[in-house]
Formats: sequence, structure tokens, C-alpha cells
Amino acid sequence: MIKIEKLHKSYPIGKDSLHVLKGIDLHIKEGEFVSIMGSSGSGKSTLLNIVGLLDVHDEGDYYLNGQLIKDMNEKKAALLRNKFLGFIFQSFNLISYKTALENVALPLYYKGMARKERLKIALDYLEKVGLKDWANHLPNELSGGQKQRVAIARALVTKPKVVLADEPTGALDSTTTDSVMDLLKDINNEGMTVFVITHEEEVAEQTKRIVRLKDGLIISDEYTKTSKTV
Ligand code: ATP
Ligand code: MG
Repeated sequence: MIKIEKLHKSYPIGKDSLHVLKGIDLHIKEGEFVSIMGSSGSGKSTLLNIVGLLDVHDEGDYYLNGQLIKDMNEKKAALLRNKFLGFIFQSFNLISYKTALENVALPLYYKGMARKERLKIALDYLEKVGLKDWANHLPNELSGGQKQRVAIARALVTKPKVVLADEPTGALDSTTTDSVMDLLKDINNEGMTVFVITHEEEVAEQTKRIVRLKDGLIISDEYTKTSKTV
């Protein structure tokens, strides 16, 4: 599903550049549940953004679903992104003046689906994350955990093959973190590939494979106990 080989990424800083990813090799098969850990500034979000086609790499190869991502124009990248990928962020990124239901339905609007149909599908996904009764509430009427569940419903509504999550539990307490992780486990059990950034060891241990980044390189890549019990 995701195949990365000798990947490098630098950011220009004035006349200099900051070499952030220094030769990453990473293969993630369909249906895996992978977490990525590493200290602040180690390049986790940079890697996730490249995997998510939100940013481009400099050297090396990246294949998404067998397709080589190189010199791809933004239009084609956006098409691939809409077709294969769903995103979840630490800060939820919900639109404040739209209801939970409208937020979840938004990606279907961009796909050109009629309003009635997209609201119907969005409601099914809100039900899936346990928030059907909150459909007509605005984000500021929801708790952090509820907002993240809305964001997860929104990430799933287009049926992506891969869900990418950048610190999805970073803003949540431990009980709410567990309910969000349970949801990610459920969608992984349904066959979706899940790739999550976290700095919490307890969160990483709930995934099936932990990749550790340090100074722009992968220093370990191991399957967890969780992977063996399934
Ligand atoms: P955190 O745990 O704090 O989120 P991270 O592992 O996600 O950290 P990145 O966001 O990938 O780290 O950043 C890696 C390095 O690249 C950092 O030193 C950061 O300052 C730098 N960086 C990130 N994005 C940019 C950018 N757009 N322009 C310039 N430098 C950047
Ligand atoms: Mg980050």
C-alpha cells in the first residue's frame, strides 16, 4: 500500500537547508496498523505529510497503491488523496460554523454528491462513531473527544484505504484517548490501513507495529504484542 525507499526531505531555511528525513525505508501493507514515534522535531509530521501527498519529497521513491509519486502535479495528487486517504489531526480541524453532520458530509460535497445523499451517508458515519444524537450540534458544543470522533467520521466517509492521523489523541485525556483508539482499532479490524503519529507509549502499544524515528532515520521497527493477539 505504502512503499518508501531512501526517502529524503529538506526544508529551505534562507540560503541554507534543514535536512529532516535522511533516507527513510518503510513498507506498510494493506490492513496494517502502524504508529510512528520520535522526539519533537524528528520528522514525524514531515513523513506523514509526504505519505499523505500534502508535501513532496526531494530524493528517493514513494509508491502509493503501486503508483510512483514523483513530479506529480497538484491536481493529480489531490485526486489520489481524495481517492485513497483520510486525515485526522490533533486539533480536529472542524469547521466551526457547520454542524457535526455538515462537517462529516463535507468531503462528499467535494466529490460532487447531492446534498440529500451526502447527509444520509454522513449520518450513518456519525452513528458509527456513537454521535448520531449530536448531528445538529456545532463543534463548540462538543467535548474534545466528541470533536475527534466527528473528525474520524469525516475521515472515513469517503471510504479511504489509508487513514493518516497526526497525534489524534494529543489533545485528549486518557479515557477519551482510549475511546478514540478503540475506534481506530475497529476501523483497522474492518480492513483499513491506519498510520498514526503519537508521542504516547501507551497509544503506540495499542497499534500493531511501532516505527521509531530519530534524527531523520528509522532506528527501530517492531511488531507489538497487540499484533500477536489478533
Ligand atoms: P513534533 O513532535 O513536535 O510534532 P515532528 O517529529 O512532527 O515534531 P516535523 O514537524 O516533521 O517534526 O519537523 C521536523 C523538522 O523540520 C523541525 O525541525 C521543524 O522545525 C522543521 N520543519 C517542519 N516543517 C517545516 C517547514 N514547512 N519549513 C521549514 N522547516 C520545517
Ligand atoms: Mg508533528
